[in-house]
Amino acid sequence: MKTIAILGSTGSIGTQTLEVVRGNGDIQVMGLAAGNNIDLLEKQIREFHPKKAAVWSEEKARELRVRAADTATEILSGMEGLIEVAAMDGTQILVTAIVGMIGIRPTIEAIKAGKDIALANKETLVTAGHLIMPLAKDMGVTILPVDSEHSAIFQSLQGNADNPVKKILLTASGGPFRGMRQEELLEIRVEDALKHPNWTMGAKITIDSSTMVNKGLEVIEAKWLFGVEVDDVQVVVQPQSVIHSMVEYEDGAVMAQLGTPDMKLPIQYALYYPKRRYLPGERLDFYSIGKLDFEKPDMDTFYGLKLAYEAGRKGGSLPTVFNAANELAVSMFLKREAKYLEITEIIEDCMMAHKNIPEPTLEQILETEAETYERINSRR
Ligand code: NDP
Repeated sequence: MKTIAILGSTGSIGTQTLEVVRGNGDIQVMGLAAGNNIDLLEKQIREFHPKKAAVWSEEKARELRVRAADTATEILSGMEGLIEVAAMDGTQILVTAIVGMIGIRPTIEAIKAGKDIALANKETLVTAGHLIMPLAKDMGVTILPVDSEHSAIFQSLQGNADNPVKKILLTASGGPFRGMRQEELLEIRVEDALKHPNWTMGAKITIDSSTMVNKGLEVIEAKWLFGVEVDDVQVVVQPQSVIHSMVEYEDGAVMAQLGTPDMKLPIQYALYYPKRRYLPGERLDFYSIGKLDFEKPDMDTFYGLKLAYEAGRKGGSLPTVFNAANELAVSMFLKREAKYLEITEIIEDCMMAHKNIPEPTLEQILETEAETYERINSRR
């Protein structure tokens, strides 16, 4: 019996992870954590009987303690609760499906406690990859990618352990505004940006996909997961989202992983790695696909991707600024407090103002996050 805990169990990745658990029947859920959605968390507690569950707000945690008083689940709250679930005794794998760099501390504590990490929470690796990857190595912990592109790269690396990688080809759908120019993006509304052509995901990553900031975060994520330079990661727009990513080897051979857009595949692969298991769902039908298209990303219109390369190249605390500015700018856009194009403008402004700290400590990362927020808030 495998044992897991999930941070962000009520979200898109969290609920799909629980679908995989349901579908297999041999994984025990030991811990769950969510932000606010205690209605769904209560249902999950009743179905999966975790030992511990954490809710971000103390007030909601108190309410859930009353509601779930007839269960054996201990209800925790705040950062302490997240950390307790992340590092709890008895779990083998922590699924980090929480959104944002709030995942850094729990992820670090889980690694220190020897848990393998099924990582969806890319913001954590983007901002603290230089702390997380060496720590995982020291602790003998495996970081299993859940992001579909990184899972595809990971799958394309299997059986090639000693062969150096020449290039990573990171595919992108191009998002709902592919082919548009800056002028056409001026009046984009929240509803427009929330319509992803191929994937159904949480709100933040859906906006990030539309600005291509998500692809930028993924470039930096790939740098840490696979030990490459960001300039060895080439973004290839593949609008049908059939090829999930590829690896080019020294002899020119390219290995790819293809499939229908279903996050349950990378989630299940991470949970059972290196075994593959049956997964119900649609299969690729190449006769009906007919053809695949490839394009260069438009980094002038979607210059968040260009800024990500710059942040990834320079490293230090700059990726934290890139990420934190994006997190706040996206939440402002979702609350209709910022215009669509301001998201990237805000990121650029914060990056330009920042004095980079090479090899920042955890405290410096969190300080940089706070300073970035302060800068944005002071200009509103
Ligand atoms: P969602 O917005 O759907 O879910 C986020 C989850 O995090 C929810 O369970 C939410 O709880 C929880 N959460 C948010 N803030 C807190 C907090 N302070 N404390 C505890 N829990 C919190 O996001 P996604 O599932 O789409 O994305 C999760 C991560 O996975 C992101 O980093 C994303 O980039 C990455 N990812 C997602 C993919 C996808 O297909 N969705 C694909 C690849 C990567 P609540 O709802 O209760 O507030």
